[in-house]
Amino acid sequence: MLETLPSSFSFGPGLDQIIPTPLLARSGVGASFEKDLAMTYDPAWYQVNKKKVNEWNRRWREANKEQMKAIVKRWYLAHPDRVRENRRRWYLENKERWLENARNLPKKEPEKWKLIWAEKRGVRRARKAGSDIGRVELRRILNIHGYICHICKAPVAPWDIHFDHVIPLSKGGSHTEENIRPAHADCNLRKQDKI
Ligand SMILES: [Zn+2]
Repeated sequence: MLETLPSSFSFGPGLDQIIPTPLLARSGVGASFEKDLAMTYDPAWYQVNKKKVNEWNRRWREANKEQMKAIVKRWYLAHPDRVRENRRRWYLENKERWLENARNLPKKEPEKWKLIWAEKRGVRRARKAGSDIGRVELRRILNIHGYICHICKAPVAPWDIHFDHVIPLSKGGSHTEENIRPAHADCNLRKQDKI
């Protein structure tokens, strides 16, 4: 049974360090939560009352979600190195879970992720070619030009789409939204053959 803490009990300045482990470990915050917590209290007292305190903290966090958010944010800003270090450690310890998550995300929104990958690929290629690179959002290009191949002017199915540089990178074209149009995969490849 959870006892209520004495009314004179206060977290004092240690409150800032009370961060829930399971909730935030993923984002790099709470990996050393238990350690921080132990330091907040008189260590001997904490050892004896550990369970009670942890449960009390859990309830407090649940009942004060907004305040918790502010505390977490402050903690983030105050400990950038530890956030980075914890995030790295979390990733190493949960690599499999992380990779599985990364594999599953695209299954939920395949079209969105296809565009994101195409964007990254595009920037990599442009960098390799030494081209000028601007901000390129393929979704925006599709909104402007529609699913129409700019080479043969016929409609393109989403799974068949390539993004073609109107002036090829190899001819000094830039990697910018103005120079990129939707195209059929084979129209795009045929055009590259000619160059
Ligand atoms: Zn075409």
